Amino acid sequence: MYLQRTIRQRVAVDGIGLHTGEPARIVFRPAPPDTGIYVLRGDLPGTPSIRVHAENVSATSLATTLSSSAFSVSTVEHCLSALAAYRIDNLYIELDGPEIPIGDGSAKTFLDALLSVGFVEQEEPRRYLYVTEPVFYGEGEKHAYVVPYSGLRVTCVIEFAHGAIGKQRIDVDINETSFAREIAGARTFGFLKDVEAMRSRGLARGGSLDNAIVLDDQGVMNPGGLRFADEFVRHKVLDALGDLVTLGRPLLGHVVLHKAGHDVMNKLARKLLQSTDRWREMQLGGEYAWAGKY
Ligand SMILES: [Zn+2]
Repeated sequence: MYLQRTIRQRVAVDGIGLHTGEPARIVFRPAPPDTGIYVLRGDLPGTPSIRVHAENVSATSLATTLSSSAFSVSTVEHCLSALAAYRIDNLYIELDGPEIPIGDGSAKTFLDALLSVGFVEQEEPRRYLYVTEPVFYGEGEKHAYVVPYSGLRVTCVIEFAHGAIGKQRIDVDINETSFAREIAGARTFGFLKDVEAMRSRGLARGGSLDNAIVLDDQGVMNPGGLRFADEFVRHKVLDALGDLVTLGRPLLGHVVLHKAGHDVMNKLARKLLQSTDRWREMQLGGEYAWAGKY
């Protein structure tokens, strides 16, 4: 039987906030079985919390934001991504301010922290969301599907009218190894003109070549270049995995994305959760244990 998972002990991640440029810290804390994933504000009276769930997402095309009446927190997807790949069922993510640290713009900082303390199995069986019929959401040329699959897999296509990106496609069977090697290190990216526009609105004060790939008309501005030739589409897979955590339970399915951003991912997640005739809750017993990929 595949059991629920949390982390062995608390662990902190320090850095700076993307928008404020101020120091930011989160602490990952173990949570009891059947809790799910929560974001908390330890610095606010009463320690308000938001469940990481599609209903609590106010997404934009640039980042996924979780909101409640007490607070909002933006760009949660990089921190959540590793939780999808490593099948973490229960976790508290405690913030001490308005922002999650940006790290190097990838999921690496968060994954390193989680791996440094390790994971522990809990006494309750994991309850997967097992897709039995395809679900589709589309807006114009942006398409997102989830179809039945005996594991977790993401296929992603992006297309940007920029010589350094162009059309990129990737198909990854997601497990701990493939995530750590192929996806976790892929950084977010932006165009210099957009970064300048955000700065003029008081945003992205913490943004730099240390935490994003920045492109100008000539190409990649980062002195070290890219980590992967197709780092851009790999980062989109990272983002999508983070957004899948908002389903509230681990997915068994194949997600296929064509030019789909966080807004489309949130619509897909909401539609999937509502389409209760197209998935069922499933526990995995010993006969699947050989595969080791769930
Ligand atoms: Zn991202």
